[in-house]
Amino acid sequence: MVSRYALIIDPATPDDPRTDFTSTFSEVDATAPALSVGELSTQRGDGIFESVGVIDGHAQEVQAHLDRLAHSAEICDLPAPNLEQWRAATVLAAAHCGPGESVIKLILSRGVDHGPAPTAWITANPAPDFAGVRVRGVRVVTLDRGYDSAVPARAPWLLLGAKTLSYAVNMAAIREAKRRGADDAIFVSTDGIVFEAPTASLIVRINDVYVTPAPTGGILQGTTQLSAFSWMQAQGLTTEYRDVLTDELHRADAAWLVSSVRLAAPITEIDGTTIPLDAEFTARLNEYLLSPRD
Ligand code: PLP
Repeated sequence: MVSRYALIIDPATPDDPRTDFTSTFSEVDATAPALSVGELSTQRGDGIFESVGVIDGHAQEVQAHLDRLAHSAEICDLPAPNLEQWRAATVLAAAHCGPGESVIKLILSRGVDHGPAPTAWITANPAPDFAGVRVRGVRVVTLDRGYDSAVPARAPWLLLGAKTLSYAVNMAAIREAKRRGADDAIFVSTDGIVFEAPTASLIVRINDVYVTPAPTGGILQGTTQLSAFSWMQAQGLTTEYRDVLTDELHRADAAWLVSSVRLAAPITEIDGTTIPLDAEFTARLNEYLLSPRD
């Protein structure tokens, strides 16, 4: 596979009538510097992104990622992205991914102070090998997010429903989880409501119902969770969006962290309590997630 690929995108407006956006893409050496030192994405983390899983050159769930990119842009007061332009860039990047698993990143930054703005680029890289963790699972600890579940509505400037580039807090949470002897974290509100993991959505099975925290503004709407729910529904399984209480986590019959590149990682332990691992179901879920999905 071509291991690294990057395109700088000259962002088009949503009403741009072009159907061919090739002239707006400039391929750059992905290993060489390409951004201005004035970039607000690097200075302030001021921008948004998407990580799209690619299997054997097929970019998964592109529409769901584009929809979330547009949603994040709206929350962050960034210019609305031209989704057909981003789709074309994603298809081009996917064509540079060979067999196996890769990851494409779509990045839209506020740009450079005094312009040009915004800045947009896309990269393709080989994905880390998550085959083991999909079988072995992860141990997680719950971590206090430091605010209550009403904050997203009360303080929209915290940009909680947007996938912003500011992931320093998320990465710090994973380091804290490791310090506590776990592999990953689940954020919970100060009033005991479960949010999400720093880089994944949570699905728990309680009494044969597959439950995920409702994406009511405080968490991201996970594209993998959406896709997993449609697969479950097609098999007659019951799915539900609702508030999940921290106490309920420890009583789950099974639980998974789901995300675009790692896919479904079964949770084997939450705060030291063993969670049953349904190996057969997890294998079928990951088999589905590894199949081409649109
Ligand atoms: N929640 C957060 C905070 C994430 O960073 C991610 C993925 O990166 C997810 C949820 C899962 O989203 P997706 O399934 O679209 O990868």
